[in-house]
Amino acid sequence: MDELIYMDHHATTPVHPEVFEAMKPCLMENFGNPASTTHMVGKLAYEATENAREMVARLINAQPEEIVFTSGATESDNMAVKGAGEALQKSGNHIITCRVEHKAILEACKFMEKKGFNVTYLPVDKYAMVDPADVEKVITDKTILVTIMMANSEVGTIEPIKEIAGVAHNKGVLMHTDAAQAAGKIKVDVHDLGVDLLSLSGHKMYGPKGVGAMYVKKKTKLTPLFHGGGHEKKRRSGTLNVPGIVGLGEACAVAIRDMSQDSERVRKLRDKLYEGITSRIERVYLNGHPEKRLPNNLNLTFEFVEGEGLILSLKGVAVSSGSACTSDSLESSYVLRAMGIPDWLAHCSIRFGLGKSNTEEQIDYVIGLLVKNVARLRAMSPLS
Ligand SMILES: *Cc1c(COP(=O)(O)O)cnc(C)c1O
Repeated sequence: MDELIYMDHHATTPVHPEVFEAMKPCLMENFGNPASTTHMVGKLAYEATENAREMVARLINAQPEEIVFTSGATESDNMAVKGAGEALQKSGNHIITCRVEHKAILEACKFMEKKGFNVTYLPVDKYAMVDPADVEKVITDKTILVTIMMANSEVGTIEPIKEIAGVAHNKGVLMHTDAAQAAGKIKVDVHDLGVDLLSLSGHKMYGPKGVGAMYVKKKTKLTPLFHGGGHEKKRRSGTLNVPGIVGLGEACAVAIRDMSQDSERVRKLRDKLYEGITSRIERVYLNGHPEKRLPNNLNLTFEFVEGEGLILSLKGVAVSSGSACTSDSLESSYVLRAMGIPDWLAHCSIRFGLGKSNTEEQIDYVIGLLVKNVARLRAMSPLS
């Protein structure tokens, strides 16, 4: 195949054509500052961002006033950990999270440890799943925040957020979830989940990079990361990124319209890929929960085949050997390690992240390439 086969949609997604069309006027004609509404130029920009706010809110069943625009999920995650920590430090200094979170949560938590907070990094089971009973065991009177991601970016496992939020709320503790991988792919309903804070990112759901949102339930106390003009009801100062926000809003509108159909189509392609691989290649293991998993995720270990080498042999196919954020170092993925997968097997793992652009033909082609190259690499391996 001449075309690039993109199967790394957990790292990022292309901007949807409808998102691009919606953003275009915001760079030139509709260039106003939404905070300068004494004239028409500002008013138009204000209307555009408020329309986007409405769309983001609708995607997650929140109120528009509860949506704060940010620069992405990294900022939203930092806002949750540092903002809640700062705002609630009189009530306690304990934060609960888990070992398979995105670095944005893990590093923000490490920073809080330097500030005198205690952080519990809960273990996960072999599927990368957190047990709500473990949250209950470690929660104390000093706990101020529980933050557990909704869906894992490497193995796609969907965490029991509703149950964990129940445990947190029984103790009057704030609950945050990072839904960057979940939003637009599976149902995300803040009321059903019972969360107080939720992070999203534009570029993980066919919107632009550098924009995201944070759901902040009404009356939740949170110290802002940025101080300035008091934008976003004083929760996040800084002139709004109008093109980005409009793009995020349109991406949410597209997701509301297309998600169930799209996810079903992608799930079928993912299952076809899995069946094609496992019926033709031996000693392949699935990482992540067999059912409670994102419809677009397939993380596999090919025993005795070094993942980086396999990726290099898949010419024209973009996949990842673990978390994109750490793949420049040769350390095995901390997510796979936390699941109890030994280093040597973790190094034999590949993550396929399917998305809108993938087709049946591409799946057949990739299966063929894998069959050929896994056999070749195994023949060369001294271990197999
Ligand atoms: C990508 C991602 C982030 C970071 O989002 P950015 O918008 O790129 O800052 C955070 N958490 C998860 C789970 C992600 O997948």
